[in-house]
Amino acid sequence: MEEDKLQEKEFFSWEEFSAFFDAWCERRKVLFFVKNSVPLSKCKWATAPPRPDVVEALKYSSVRLVCKDFRGSSKPEQGGQHKGCCASIVLKMSPKKDRLIVTECQLAHNHALCPIEFAYYFKKGYLMANSCLPVRTTNKISKQFVGGPDVRRLLSYCKSRDHGVLDVLTVLDGLFASDPNAKVKLVFMEDKVIVQTIFFLSSRMMALSRRFPLMLFFDRMVGLNEEFDLYSVLCVDGAGRGREVAYCLTQRETPDLLRFTLASLVQSVPEVKLQVRCITLGVEIAHLEAVKELLPNARVQICRSQVLETLFSKAQELGAAEDERIWPLLCRLAAAKSPAAYQQAAQEMKVILPQRFVRYFQRHWQPRSEMWVQFWAFETARNVNACELLKQHQRRLLAALSPSPTVAQCMLDLLAMQVGSEAHELDEGELATHYRAICKPEPAGLIEEELGFARHGRYRFQETAEGYLLHDGLSKFAMDQALTRCSCSIYTSSLLPCRHLFATRLRTGLALFDPGLLHRNQAALLGAC
Ligand SMILES: [Zn+2]
Ligand SMILES: [Zn+2]
Repeated sequence: MEEDKLQEKEFFSWEEFSAFFDAWCERRKVLFFVKNSVPLSKCKWATAPPRPDVVEALKYSSVRLVCKDFRGSSKPEQGGQHKGCCASIVLKMSPKKDRLIVTECQLAHNHALCPIEFAYYFKKGYLMANSCLPVRTTNKISKQFVGGPDVRRLLSYCKSRDHGVLDVLTVLDGLFASDPNAKVKLVFMEDKVIVQTIFFLSSRMMALSRRFPLMLFFDRMVGLNEEFDLYSVLCVDGAGRGREVAYCLTQRETPDLLRFTLASLVQSVPEVKLQVRCITLGVEIAHLEAVKELLPNARVQICRSQVLETLFSKAQELGAAEDERIWPLLCRLAAAKSPAAYQQAAQEMKVILPQRFVRYFQRHWQPRSEMWVQFWAFETARNVNACELLKQHQRRLLAALSPSPTVAQCMLDLLAMQVGSEAHELDEGELATHYRAICKPEPAGLIEEELGFARHGRYRFQETAEGYLLHDGLSKFAMDQALTRCSCSIYTSSLLPCRHLFATRLRTGLALFDPGLLHRNQAALLGAC
């Protein structure tokens, strides 16, 4: 008898049971689902509770699985209603609290078993996946933006720490607690409670992308982890620094991340869609056609130094001889300042590089030359060096991230990096020198003093319709959108930039040295009479 074989069968983990039961159902073409369950993590204990590793392994103190047809079918069948099926299995934790035991099983069905129906509905691994969060919930929420209440609801459903989902949700809960307007999109693997991708940006990052949308950068971080990848979108702030405006953490080899990330960014900050003029991509980013659709006014460039490195290593791989001329030639190619110079370098390639390499070049890089050769792909305004900016970002990430972190830890590190980043980059001495170069000594001294107060831990910022509000713990000060005027007495009496303007500029990414800040006080400038 089948019942005899199952009855009293023991399992030392829910995973073991799930694997056994999947195979058992597959052999018999029967469909069962969990009707009720009591998660161990939610149990109260009169006696000593089971050890944490047992809670983790067994997951439930009891589970009742019933046949898919247990409600019966409402279709009239040969004159009568088809009654619900009684086939069921009950699994309970043993009194010793160390294993799950089948305590009841009723395997007779009151209906025929249909292999076609089975093939349609059966999902291997479903029992295991459902033990952390209900799969229907994760399927429903997947690919959508989630808010604080969604995250708290998911947390209340969460029954175990499987796959780090609980940890990720806890980090998101913290993010929403401190920044309710943050944007987060979660993608779960279909029918599994495994986070595949997380897209997120804080309201501060949103403000940066609104203020500096002209040039964006998109690249993957190299060497983060075996399991997942980190992609970042950067903009260039008023001081010419690369600043993060969105992050995307994803399981390795997830396809088409460029499209997903840009689409999510445009959904979060719709006004950037038409404002982006240029986007520079890392060399390995694929499916560039997504840019045209999502950022219709943006020119696409590929990071030139990365292209160069790729070409050089590909040349070795395809059998180029040790030849000192190769690197300088490739550099001339990439840095060509006219189509003729480019053509000439491309011709020379045929002489000193193997045929196979030339074919590779013609197939992959020649058609995209407008995206990476200097003549066509020049950096736009403000002398931004895209390659240097991407490299600096890589270095910043390497310094900020824990070695091979989990997804949750990585998010924590990235969020912490946002908070500390601009204060690090404030070089008061250098800024004071710039102001002394254009100002008379007395106003330059005042400005220097105010710069010293820019990095103040107690400031709180708020965006308003007119500009910004800053609370310093005692009073509030109002500033205009362009951050050139402040309502405080320091500014109104001197018409020189005050600590509030500097602090808010620092936070929003505007340059702290800006001659525009002195327009209303020409008398402070050197050479004024
Ligand atoms: Zn049945
Ligand atoms: Zn002020």
